[in-house]
Amino acid sequence: MRVCVLAQWLVSFVVIGTGLVGLETRHAAAVPTYANNVVVIMVEGLRPDALKQAKVPTLDGLIKRGASTMKAQTVEPSLTLPAFASMMSGLPVEQHGVDWNEYDPPRGFIKAPTLFEIASFNGSKWGAAFLSKEKLLHVIKQDRRLLVNVCSINEQGCNAKKITDDVIASYKTATEGKPALFVVQLADADTAGHDQGWMSKPYLKAVEEVDRAIGSLIKGFKDLGLYDRTTFIVTADHGGHAKIHGTSMSEDKTIPWIAAGPGIKAGYEITRPVSLIDTAATVMRAFGITDYYVEWKSRPIEEIFVDRMGAPVAAGAEKPSR
Ligand SMILES: [Zn+2]
Repeated sequence: MRVCVLAQWLVSFVVIGTGLVGLETRHAAAVPTYANNVVVIMVEGLRPDALKQAKVPTLDGLIKRGASTMKAQTVEPSLTLPAFASMMSGLPVEQHGVDWNEYDPPRGFIKAPTLFEIASFNGSKWGAAFLSKEKLLHVIKQDRRLLVNVCSINEQGCNAKKITDDVIASYKTATEGKPALFVVQLADADTAGHDQGWMSKPYLKAVEEVDRAIGSLIKGFKDLGLYDRTTFIVTADHGGHAKIHGTSMSEDKTIPWIAAGPGIKAGYEITRPVSLIDTAATVMRAFGITDYYVEWKSRPIEEIFVDRMGAPVAAGAEKPSR
């Protein structure tokens, strides 16, 4: 086991070394504006039209400061665990195989590599996952470079505010400030949707609470001095209608997709079709990590990035590296 880890690190160093040499030559004239940190926030059950009906100053601010579409599409079935697996693996459900939606430990982990592994291996980035449903652990493989925090939505006090507070507290203490890729899942709106119906008053109120929690998370990054080099991506696993989701209806499948941070255009409306699956490659692109090869179906949303002289174009699946 020790040999494995050591070997992995050695390969990492080689990859990093190669990357640095490349960067120095290609960016001698222009300093690229890549993100040191990327925070991916999956708001469960968030419908785009909820952003029009609820008061969401934080998300409005991200839309203004960044690039967004209100027409992104999730996978089928439009359920949390398959969608989360697609976002993290860059693969459609039939390829990553996580087609169930319950916590069932004997089924083990997703087999495909996820964002955490790709980012840690190719960019030496540490990760942190903050989840409010333990079934998502099917997608989170244990790694010493990964901090995992799960509170169950069924527990008293496990809400968006607590989770976002945990992110900031953990960054300061448990991990000595190492995580660079944060994945945060907030279930409040989904719970309200199942209880009272999508677009109901309680649902919209839950969306507002989630917005406030994201606001305090962003403030936490400001207080830590990380804000200027952090990209925030906010999206959803699915929408919902009546008191359910999981169908191929537009209300279930259409989700918002918002990104704001260094190197990302401000006030930009994305024109090309966006799939939740594209989040994976776009996260790597935001980090400026392009020297990797993964067999995935994720394509970076290239149009959101400002032109950067001398910057490498995103690779991903289309341009395998050596
Ligand atoms: Zn649900």
